[in-house]
Amino acid sequence: MAHRINEDCINCGACLPECPVTAISEGEEIYVIDEAVCVDCKGHFDEPQCVSVCPVDCIIEV
Ligand code: SF4
Ligand code: SF4
Repeated sequence: MAHRINEDCINCGACLPECPVTAISEGEEIYVIDEAVCVDCKGHFDEPQCVSVCPVDCIIEV
């Protein structure tokens, strides 16, 4: 499992500093999660932090 940012991302940058494993980066058009690095925040937080802070709910579980 991992999380993915969809095309509704408005590039606000809120999610980037919240990721405990630095899986999020600024992509060419929208922010991107490295799905090989994302651990769904397991072992770090009860809830996926990127999902919690995203103002447009554009981060989905895959
Ligand atoms: S779910 Fe957690 S580990 Fe995965 S990208 Fe979001 S903040 Fe990072
Ligand atoms: S918090 Fe949501 S809208 Fe903002 S950069 Fe991250 S994915 Fe995009």
